[in-house]
Amino acid sequence: MTIKQRQALLAYLGYYVDSIDGKWGTNSRTAANAFKADYGVEANDKNLLAAVNGTIQPVKKEIGWDSIRYFKKSEFKCKCGRYCNGYPAEIDLGMVSIADAVRARLGRPVTVNSGLRCRQHNANVGGASASQHMYGTAADLGCPSGVTPQQMYDIAEEIMGNAGGLGLYSWGIHIDSRSTKARWKG
Ligand SMILES: [Zn+2]
Ligand SMILES: [Zn+2]
Repeated sequence: MTIKQRQALLAYLGYYVDSIDGKWGTNSRTAANAFKADYGVEANDKNLLAAVNGTIQPVKKEIGWDSIRYFKKSEFKCKCGRYCNGYPAEIDLGMVSIADAVRARLGRPVTVNSGLRCRQHNANVGGASASQHMYGTAADLGCPSGVTPQQMYDIAEEIMGNAGGLGLYSWGIHIDSRSTKARWKG
């Protein structure tokens, strides 16, 4: 990970407020120390990514919807409108945190094309039989105008590192918080 990437992750997590300039100065060190104080671990690459993915959480502060900046829970509802109450599974906040980080880096509104899917809705839209969408761990994010799906994909790739599922499509990207790494083009 480059210093710029580390600064970007610290900025996303709310610790770094200076420009992402790739220089590890006083503000970067202060941000890393504040991260360490909150999370109880060093601000190294592995821990920063784990914090963004929600795998590790601040010792004092639990991750919740109040820590998500850009998305509301309702945006991840199942869109079937008839087979379920909209929430057939818990929404994984680790996955939402990834979406939030991608949205922050893009600096543009991102639409959740598909979040949760009940089994029936997943079948109706032709989802994979074991789709992560049924478990609340996946979201399809529409590409905002002014950026390309490839650019969006590259940002997500930086944020996700060596974990999770990431697919590139003509309409945007699929992200999910599976524990293994998967990358594909749809
Ligand atoms: Zn449904
Ligand atoms: Zn998907």
